Amino acid sequence: ATPTALMVGTGRGAQLGILIKVPEVLETTRAVDTVVLDKTGTVTTGRMELLAVRTAGAVDADRALRLAGALEHASEHPVARAVASAAAERTGPLPAPEDFANVPGLGVRGTVEGHALLVGRPRLLEQQGIDLPAALAEARAAAEAGGRTAIAVAWDGEARALLEVADAVKDTSAEAVRRLRALGLTPLLLTGDNRAVAEAVAAEVGIEEVVAEVMPEDKVDVVRRLQEEGRTVAMVGDGVNDAAALAQADLGLAMGTGTDAAIEAGDLTLVRGDLTAAADAIRLARRTLATIR
Ligand code: ADP
Ligand code: MG
Repeated sequence: ATPTALMVGTGRGAQLGILIKVPEVLETTRAVDTVVLDKTGTVTTGRMELLAVRTAGAVDADRALRLAGALEHASEHPVARAVASAAAERTGPLPAPEDFANVPGLGVRGTVEGHALLVGRPRLLEQQGIDLPAALAEARAAAEAGGRTAIAVAWDGEARALLEVADAVKDTSAEAVRRLRALGLTPLLLTGDNRAVAEAVAAEVGIEEVVAEVMPEDKVDVVRRLQEEGRTVAMVGDGVNDAAALAQADLGLAMGTGTDAAIEAGDLTLVRGDLTAAADAIRLARRTLATIR
């Protein structure tokens, strides 16, 4: 492609809300046949809400929410924000955790009011040898079957509560998937969230291929594996945990509403965080190249 055509493409991109870092990436889009979509914050709004608190035995729901919220207040994760803000709203200003550690892809741990706390995927508790009691295991199954994410809360070595959180699919996501398909791309949903939630979201937007329960450091391997199968891969993401996959993809598209890490790793930025701009970007690139041939 001539530099002039690429500049024209870049200018048109800006009008569509697409920032093109290096115009030469427009060339790559011609060959793209697969588009990997991060779930949380990309296909969904990423604004999680707390929908229910279930507890085991005589545990008080507000007490469990308060302890969990105090710890989550120290985390930036969308789940953490939902838990911390619901806790503060229902129970007032939260105590500061005495210590705090993020466990990427799983949750958080730390000490609040003298209790050693774990908040996160049930798998985080299992890793410490803590099982869910029957009442919470049932609540988990029901939440996940309904497409909600189940967050377990344990303190002093026992699982005591289960929080149900969910966010909404962006209203443009289904249309974006239709348009990506119309451009001949196969969409694939990629997430660290549990399989049932991922499949509910995929069904809602019309995606058939789902890779769920992926640890943050393994997202890049999913992209690499597709490339090894001979596919040319575009990846759309917003999170810190998407950065390596965005860099590995043949074409990395970062949500402008996402983290700096994702934006730095991507080739293009979708300024408004609207997935339909991903289809615009690919269509624009193909047109720009067609004009000059
Ligand atoms: P994704 O953004 O694709 O959902 P993550 O790797 O960030 O993936 O997280 C995977 C899962 O781990 C989340 O869906 C959530 O269930 C759990 N998780 C991660 N961080 C936290 C946290 N701070 N609090 C509670 N749960 C968390
Ligand atoms: Mg995300």
